[in-house]
Amino acid sequence: MARRLTICGTAAAEAIPAIHCVCDTCRRAWELGGKDLRTRAAYQLGQDVRVDFGPDSHFHMRAMGQDYAYLQHLLITHSHQDHWLPEELAYRRPGFCVLPEGFPPLTIYGNDRVLESARQRLGNLEAMRIELYEIHSFQEVQVCPDLRLTTLKAEHGGEEDALNFLIEEPDRSLLVANDTGFWQEETWEFIAGRRVDVALIDGTCGRYDQNGGHMGAPWVAKFAARLGELGCLSDSPRLIVTHFSHNGHANHDQLVEIYTAYGIEVAYDGLVVG
Ligand SMILES: [Zn+2]
Ligand SMILES: [Zn+2]
Ligand SMILES: [Zn+2]
Repeated sequence: MARRLTICGTAAAEAIPAIHCVCDTCRRAWELGGKDLRTRAAYQLGQDVRVDFGPDSHFHMRAMGQDYAYLQHLLITHSHQDHWLPEELAYRRPGFCVLPEGFPPLTIYGNDRVLESARQRLGNLEAMRIELYEIHSFQEVQVCPDLRLTTLKAEHGGEEDALNFLIEEPDRSLLVANDTGFWQEETWEFIAGRRVDVALIDGTCGRYDQNGGHMGAPWVAKFAARLGELGCLSDSPRLIVTHFSHNGHANHDQLVEIYTAYGIEVAYDGLVVG
């Protein structure tokens, strides 16, 4: 059975309200509260699997009852600070953290840039019981007996091998496609025909017709449509847009209005997908 999937954070790098910002979207988010308060993007699958570990990980631990003592597999999409803040993991070292004998190690899966920063900034990995597993785009990894990871090439910046993920469990196939623009053809060809039950799609640019390493609403709709054209969508897929920036100038209610027309759900922090 698939793990319980929680969408922990749904914002881009500076969160919403953005720190120090006085724009209308941030001011309105303060007033509205609730679903308009967004932390940096991350996803939790059960107790043992997580996607990304950014600056709001500790908040997610407290607010959503996620006990990272039991985390075993950490899948990192790319090295941008909103997704990968290794200093928070450094507190796993002796003197700052007690891990009883026999506790399973934590394996970090990431591209060469992510792992290089782990080696530089974490210190003694053995003492922290952290193991590193290098991944690159277009690869299949059996993370554990009931979870298989397929790595996809994101369209994001180009300075590193930024990844999107297809995460397959016995009864659910989850696509993590944030921090990407509309994919290059090689990624579409690679995923063609693969089943997706839940798709989390980058909507950083809000209402705007933008597609440069991130997407706005018209491109999110094209992205979802292309998944359908390539036979990727199961009978009743959940298409969910996430990773929002205040620069997209749409609050939650406005995003819901925009995306309802496309049959796409708008994520919010703490949304349990099931
Ligand atoms: Zn991001
Ligand atoms: Zn703002
Ligand atoms: Zn990024």
